[in-house]
Amino acid sequence: SKHEGPEKYQVNDKSSIKHVVGVISGKGGVGKSLVTGILATELTRKGHKVGILDADITGPSIPKMFGLSGQHVLGQDDKIVPAESKGGVKIISTNLILQNENDPVLWRGPMLMGALKQFYEDTLWGDIDYLLVDMPPGTGDVALTVFQSLPIEGVVIVSSPQDLVQVIVGKAVKMAAMMDVPVLGVVENMSYMECPDCGKRLEPFGPSHLDEIVGEFNVRDLGRIPIDPRVAAACDAGTFESELPSGLIPDAVETVEG
Ligand code: ADP
Repeated sequence: SKHEGPEKYQVNDKSSIKHVVGVISGKGGVGKSLVTGILATELTRKGHKVGILDADITGPSIPKMFGLSGQHVLGQDDKIVPAESKGGVKIISTNLILQNENDPVLWRGPMLMGALKQFYEDTLWGDIDYLLVDMPPGTGDVALTVFQSLPIEGVVIVSSPQDLVQVIVGKAVKMAAMMDVPVLGVVENMSYMECPDCGKRLEPFGPSHLDEIVGEFNVRDLGRIPIDPRVAAACDAGTFESELPSGLIPDAVETVEG
């Protein structure tokens, strides 16, 4: 292998995980958790057993999206029982461990890594077809360690049509290449917005760069997600699973499905 990293984590003998797929972004706030949530919801609707390992340890937003705000995971012997959403997605996240989910997570390197290792190794996942990993944003130390420690088969990159997006996506592509992890493709979030009055497509963050990205980095176009206040509201209200319209990013879902 090209990189000498820490040992890969091993899942416990009460769990079996068929595929581990990462969702990454070059920077925070572009919709990485949203895309993780859409993939989880759609794969579950198709009959797969899905888990989400929220590795965005200092900025976790998955539990709230899935209506698990304020819940805590339980211990069983020396293992963790993951929380389960109404739709049946198994979820582990720092927010499900903290006494008060509004407290900031001030952990540094070793503690973050310890949490991550437990999230993978000590969680009673059971049978999982797809474990989606909401990766830490950016291309720093924590993201690299997640890559090195989990058996990630491929990554979906999330971008938004903003300045310097090529540079940012380029970093994510390079990180995946360094770790020998295939890039499954790129989803562009907040691509456009439809005017509720006239239906005209507006581009509040500027024109899409997805075609250029796909050409420059030779990656697959996995679709565009519009800015939709209903999506933001459903994330906040925890009603995401029941209210998510189908077919937002079908190519991304099919590509992860393999
Ligand atoms: P990240 O995981 O990259 O930090 P999130 O997925 O948490 O980003 O999204 C950041 C915020 O933006 C969330 O509050 C989310 O509800 C909102 N958001 C993301 N994508 C959209 C969208 N397409 N339409 C409306 N709101 C969105």
